[in-house]
Amino acid sequence: MAIISSKKQPHDSTKEPKQHQVPSPAPAKKSILQPEAAVEEQGKQEESMRPQQFADYIGQKDLKDVLEIAIKAAKSRKEVLDHLLLYGPPGLGKTTMAMILAAEMGVNCTLTSAPALERPRDIVGLLVNLKPGDILFIDEIHRLSRMAEEILYPAMEDYRLDITIGKGSSARTRSISLSKFTLVGATTRVGALTSPLRDRFGLIQKLKFYEVEELGQIIQRSARLLNTTITEDGAREIARRSRGTPRIANRLLKRVRDYAEVKSFQTITETVAAEALQLFQVDPCGLDWTDRRLLSVIIEQFHGGPVGLETIAAATGEDAQTIEELYEPYLMQIGYLSRTPRGRVATAAAYKHLGFKPPQQEQLSLLQ
Ligand code: ADP
Repeated sequence: MAIISSKKQPHDSTKEPKQHQVPSPAPAKKSILQPEAAVEEQGKQEESMRPQQFADYIGQKDLKDVLEIAIKAAKSRKEVLDHLLLYGPPGLGKTTMAMILAAEMGVNCTLTSAPALERPRDIVGLLVNLKPGDILFIDEIHRLSRMAEEILYPAMEDYRLDITIGKGSSARTRSISLSKFTLVGATTRVGALTSPLRDRFGLIQKLKFYEVEELGQIIQRSARLLNTTITEDGAREIARRSRGTPRIANRLLKRVRDYAEVKSFQTITETVAAEALQLFQVDPCGLDWTDRRLLSVIIEQFHGGPVGLETIAAATGEDAQTIEELYEPYLMQIGYLSRTPRGRVATAAAYKHLGFKPPQQEQLSLLQ
């Protein structure tokens, strides 16, 4: 199986023009817990830890069950896999799954991302070069241009490319047939996909945050690949702080490995991992500076909520979309934030974690 990659730099939504131009004094420590791939991770480092087969892809049981059936059915009918849309926060294994699917089907996988397909000829070039059964992986598919999307519709449905030659009254449309292929689209924002595009996927699957147990297994596997000795408790300590995200787990493991090497520890134990992560200022629950700020603004300025997303964005100087896509899912997952029809509410657990008195306790102490 060949992997052909024409990805551009991964999209960093924090770099998009902000709606609220309040300068945000985010310190450097913020980046270690961001699920987007860092530049140094896009090459060999991340690839070396990427599982190559289903057996090594830990967790996401529902997704694996569905895809294993789809693969068996496609193989027995000697057909190509149905087009697949994977959605969920960054770093959870969407690209990895596309590559595993290609390996299981014994076909090539071409990796690209929507921002790399700005001109129609970019996507046309990729489509005409696909061989029968190949997988075309498009990351951030919600960012496809209108024109690229329209080229994709007949390609996905009938494996056909409709090209318009000439302009005005002399314009003619020619159709070119394509090899049967599978499109795997990945997105962090399934709601931002147009419905004609979404409807053309036969399978739409969500990736969930990983449990600590699963991340512990991922860390132990990665440690073996990095020739590093780690105890089960050491792996769990890193897992707890990884925001349910394998990419962050692998990144934290590398930082802890550096620490252990420099301090001449032969094995990464729970204590070594905790010391190292404290040094790198990684919170015991994996919260970063922005998470903590979002919660403390809700608690301190809005009495714990409910407060609207736009108001939180204005008060923190963060982009509303970034808060909604990158920060809130994890805060909700660990039970620190809830979304209500009237706005966001910080939970008692969030108060406790940040060292504030939960609201009921506050009211009680006023009465005493
Ligand atoms: P996404 O495409 O969702 O942003 P990736 O597929 O690039 O995420 O995954 C990021 C990294 O996390 C991979 O390089 C891989 O090492 C690791 N990873 C992701 N999912 C798993 C998994 N289920 N088991 C083991 N490692 C994983």
